[in-house]
Amino acid sequence: FDDIAHPVCVGLEVAGNGTAIPKASGWPDDTFETDGQITKRPVRALTLSALAPQRGEHLWDIGGGTGSIGIEWLACDPSLTATAIEPRADRAERIRRNADALGQDRLEVIHGQAPEALGGLRLPDVVFIGGGLSNALLEWLSAHLNAGTRLVANAVTLESEALLAVWHEKLGGDLLRIELAQAAPLGPRRGWKSAYPVVQWSVTL
Ligand code: SAH
Repeated sequence: FDDIAHPVCVGLEVAGNGTAIPKASGWPDDTFETDGQITKRPVRALTLSALAPQRGEHLWDIGGGTGSIGIEWLACDPSLTATAIEPRADRAERIRRNADALGQDRLEVIHGQAPEALGGLRLPDVVFIGGGLSNALLEWLSAHLNAGTRLVANAVTLESEALLAVWHEKLGGDLLRIELAQAAPLGPRRGWKSAYPVVQWSVTL
C-alpha cells in the first residue's frame, strides 16, 4: 500500500481494495470481513495500546478470529511480524483474506488450537489471548516463553475473568476492566446500550 499525501487525508494509507486506513489503531469494524467474532474497535484500540509494539517484535495472536489484532499489529510498523492461531478452518481462511486485502500479507496464519499448536512456532516477544483462554494455556505459556515476554489477555465470560483474577494474584501485572456503552434508540428517544465488560490482564513474564 502507498501513502497518500494530499491536503485532505495526509497520513492515510490505502489497502489493496482501496479502503482508506487510519494511522491510529482501532480501525472501523467494517474494515474487516467478519462473522462477528471480532474485538470491537474501542477495545481493539485499547488492546493495541496494551500490546505496545516495539520495532522488530513478533506477536502471537491466539484466537485469531477475524485477524484484526494481528493485522493492526503489523500495520504499526513494517519491522513487526505476527502469527495468528485459529482452530476454525473458515476463520483461519478469513484471517488470510483480511490480511492480504489490508496489505498485511506477512501475517502467518496457523490453523490449530492453543496450546497444542504452539509447540513448533518461533517464540514471540508479545502474546495476545483473544480466545482459548484456559488454565492449561496460561500454564503452557509460563513454562515455555522467555522471561520478559509480554502477555495481554482479554476475558468476557465470568469463568475466564475468574482465571485472570487468579493469575493476576500469582504473577502481578495490570488488570483493567473496560466497560463501554453506546447511545442507541430507546423507544422514540435514546439510551445507553452497554457492551459486555471486558477484563484485560497485561503482564510481563
Ligand atoms: N481477537 C479476534 C476475535 C477473537 S474471537 C479479532 O478481533 O478478530 C475468539 C476466537 O478464539 C474464535 O475464533 C475461536 O475459534 C478461537 N479459539 C477458541 N479456542 C481456541 C484455542 N484453544 N486456541 C486458539 N483459538 C481458539
